Amino acid sequence: ATVKSVEFVQACASLAGCPKPTLPEIAVIGRSNVGKSSLVNMLTNRKSIAKTSKNPGKTQTINHYKMITGAGSYYLVDLPGYGFANAPEALREKWAEFTREYLLKRETLITVMLLIDSTVKPQRLDLECLDWLGAAGIPVTIVFTKVDKRKKIAAGKRANPQETMEEFCREAMDNWDWDELPPMIYTSSETAEGKREVLNHIASLRQF
Ligand code: GDP
Repeated sequence: ATVKSVEFVQACASLAGCPKPTLPEIAVIGRSNVGKSSLVNMLTNRKSIAKTSKNPGKTQTINHYKMITGAGSYYLVDLPGYGFANAPEALREKWAEFTREYLLKRETLITVMLLIDSTVKPQRLDLECLDWLGAAGIPVTIVFTKVDKRKKIAAGKRANPQETMEEFCREAMDNWDWDELPPMIYTSSETAEGKREVLNHIASLRQF
């Protein structure tokens, strides 16, 4: 699953503007500040290929990164973040619609990596997103972020933090018609924990 090279292809502002669907795609989605840019940078081995932006209003495009690996090529697709508390309602709606259209219509999409911040309880928006993806029958991979920070917080506490995160998600998935829970991967962009696991997981999907 070693990544040989990465190429930023383009930023598109509509589904029609996206690159031709010639390669399988792995999309990345999550709330603002979840650590999405950091994760994309980690997976692509770039310090700032995805800007770790402090200005949420800027990320309104779908960004395609071509990942070339020993096992074949695929697009890693960075979708606009959602849930900016201070964004105007109309803007939020637009982002949501744009992203929904991509998720529902992109025929080459293999899975959506839904990023959930492991340092806080999964938020209503996370669970709504999970619920929506489940109802739409879109394959999901849950990627928990910032586990380095979580471990520090959890040190000394008795509960196994991983079990607790899974419980939250399991509850949210109770009413779905799925045979099993989606894969869950724990990552840190600070320590690169989970990086290999994510890349191997993508490779294991074997549609490229
Ligand atoms: P985005 O808005 O989802 O793209 O989030 P960013 O990648 O910009 O990260 C948001 C904030 O979380 C930044 O201050 C990052 O430094 C921090 N962050 C991201 N990933 C990690 C991580 O794995 N561990 C820790 N401790 N902090 C992280």
